[in-house]
Amino acid sequence: MADRQAQIEYVRKWRKENADRVKTYQRTRLAWMREGNVTSDQLRRLYGRSKGRCVYCGARVTCRFSPSDPRGFDHKKPRATGGRHTVRNMVVCCLQCNIKKHKNEVWQ
Ligand SMILES: [Zn+2]
Repeated sequence: MADRQAQIEYVRKWRKENADRVKTYQRTRLAWMREGNVTSDQLRRLYGRSKGRCVYCGARVTCRFSPSDPRGFDHKKPRATGGRHTVRNMVVCCLQCNIKKHKNEVWQ
């Protein structure tokens, strides 16, 4: 319990000390999201086509159909490699696969 509390404190402190970096990150991310033209209808259709399951492992995914914060979706081609925030570049993806995928990107 104490460890968890310490962790939360650490993150809070880091965010405070690096407020500029956090702000820049959020701004860049938002600008990128706006550049795309994903609508929540498109996300819902994509979700329906995938039957609400992760394309990688088939697990049921709970999604949030918010164009600017689409939880439960993944960009096939990540932003870092020039992927765009459009529905064509998106798939339903569970959190576990998302984390795994991003780890691979970092480490390979
Ligand atoms: Zn998965």
